[in-house]
Amino acid sequence: MTAPPPRRPAEHVERALCVLAHPDDVDFGSAGTVATWAAAGTEVTYLIVTDGDAGGFDDTPRDRMGPLRREEQTAAAKAVGVTDVRFLGYPDGRLELTLDLRRDISRVIRQVRPQRVLTSSPERYYERIGASHPDHMTVGESTLRAVYPDARNPFAFPELLGEEGLEAWTVSEVWLGASPRADHAVDVTDVVELKFAALKSHVSQVGHLDDLEAFVTGWMAQNARTHGLPDGRLAETFHVVHTA
Ligand SMILES: [Zn+2]
Repeated sequence: MTAPPPRRPAEHVERALCVLAHPDDVDFGSAGTVATWAAAGTEVTYLIVTDGDAGGFDDTPRDRMGPLRREEQTAAAKAVGVTDVRFLGYPDGRLELTLDLRRDISRVIRQVRPQRVLTSSPERYYERIGASHPDHMTVGESTLRAVYPDARNPFAFPELLGEEGLEAWTVSEVWLGASPRADHAVDVTDVVELKFAALKSHVSQVGHLDDLEAFVTGWMAQNARTHGLPDGRLAETFHVVHTA
């Protein structure tokens, strides 16, 4: 018996929801991919779980950092064609896998009704430890649990339906970024300037990096080579999980 051919992600979806722990997470790993989706007419929503108030390198007062990073993420989203940016306001660096977090992500899944969800891998990437911030893994796992079973089960978090009128919703596919088992590469060469514009919106995070473009380009070139794209191309990679 031969194994069935791998299933491909949908060519086009109407709506996509990106759930990430910190402002800038979506931009380092996925802004090029988001730019291609937005350009193709997919409505994209960002849901950022923390305000990133534990990040940054300068002397911005800590109570200013959260609001500043919300502004930076909103500007970065705009650079790739995304205007719906939502924040849950959980504390940076202290995320736990809780039922409250699952409910809060489920709520937004039911509001947005996306066919596709993009989030962080819940799996530790031992070869790239920086990708596996505990908050990233927690958001990835919480989001997968919200996709299955919470958001699609009308009896999970019954207050979402009973008090807020949010009907159950089944997400068809989940794209996991920074995954040790990436199986899908998106060619982002033609939108790379949009990705750089998004990244540079995070002034408090990347303002001190002179070699940001070279660093990110090297990393995307390596992705492209690993996934067999032609020389000179740049790629972002994902593990695509079918969840319908
Ligand atoms: Zn992060």
